[in-house]
Amino acid sequence: MLHTRGMKMALNEKELRREGEALQEKLVGYRRTLHACPELKMETPVTEETVVRFLREAGISEITTNVGGHGVTAMIRSGKPGPCLALRSDMDGLPIPEETGLPFASKNGNMHACGHDFHMAALLGAAELLFRHRTELPGDVKLIFQPYEEGDGGAKQMIAAGVLEDPKVDAILGFHNACIIDRDYRPGDVLVTPEATTANIFAFSAEYKGNGGHVCLSASRINPVYAAAEAISGIRALALRHPSAIVAVTVCHGGVRNNIIPETCLIEGSLRSFDRNEQALLRKEALSVLNDAAVSTGADVEVRTTIDVMSTKNDRRLYEKFCRITEKTYPESGVLPLDPVPFIGEDFARYADLVPGYHFYLSARPEGSPYPQHNPKFDVDESVLSKAAVLLAAFALHWQD
Ligand SMILES: [Zn+2]
Ligand SMILES: [Zn+2]
Repeated sequence: MLHTRGMKMALNEKELRREGEALQEKLVGYRRTLHACPELKMETPVTEETVVRFLREAGISEITTNVGGHGVTAMIRSGKPGPCLALRSDMDGLPIPEETGLPFASKNGNMHACGHDFHMAALLGAAELLFRHRTELPGDVKLIFQPYEEGDGGAKQMIAAGVLEDPKVDAILGFHNACIIDRDYRPGDVLVTPEATTANIFAFSAEYKGNGGHVCLSASRINPVYAAAEAISGIRALALRHPSAIVAVTVCHGGVRNNIIPETCLIEGSLRSFDRNEQALLRKEALSVLNDAAVSTGADVEVRTTIDVMSTKNDRRLYEKFCRITEKTYPESGVLPLDPVPFIGEDFARYADLVPGYHFYLSARPEGSPYPQHNPKFDVDESVLSKAAVLLAAFALHWQD
């Protein structure tokens, strides 16, 4: 490590990588422990407790729990005035019974099938590196562990609980492992774009209510199945008019047998795009399709918004900094353009709407694995963990250079 008179220089890229690689085994342990106890939505008390235990073991003591539910924040202080950078990981799993057969597989019926266990382990690794080198930081670092990314609740609640304040967050960095991307990316590839890295998502449910009865009375009863069917074909027509967006109905429930007109029929669907104006238009058109289907069939409809997340607005300056730091830290692999950008939603966008943010992808799909995220056999390549930790730590150490 270089020392100049009275001032400690941030450790160089090689040293940081070496320190990160030395943590590899520990990070695998973190990931496996967290993998075995996936929890859903805002209900992540065991995950919260586990994250806190690992943070304490790394020497970090300024920890706040129960942030917006079971979220956790922790501070790493540089001891000098400077901007505050937040590093964010999600914490939640999915209601998927795991079928990986791994010795540390979850047995509770839920699964870390999106790799949020990987994200937490990476952030814990970065925390350990940064705490060790805290006096070399250009300012404070706030670690954010957020529940309920699968849906749209966690970031909203954490923000409402004041996660971006006290100390005020000046910039935020986050990432997602990129196993879902059906491309030839190799484990450890860092994927970037200055544009949005995640999509606008609007998800809805529409429950059509008619008046049920014997099928013989079809002519005089209001059949909610017809209302749902009209809505579905209207949404399909909308999809055909907007080929650059994702427009889909994915749920349709109604009725029990051929001679009973049901009382209700429920559909669910979602709209995904990258352009915020296109999204506003899609949303308006979809809502009128859902309502028109009720009007034309005489049914009533109750439309609910289940997810409403905007695309991630990436800050150009942070993007350039991130690319430069990553290329310097990993000159042999650098960064790769993310193209096409996957239609994935991320409530990281909520932070990046309020403070400058950057969100990147890190490929962690095991070589040759055919299983994407949200599959019961999904797995990550653990050998990428130390790189994930180093990428976050390198950015925190050098983002003000
Ligand atoms: Zn997911
Ligand atoms: Zn995810």
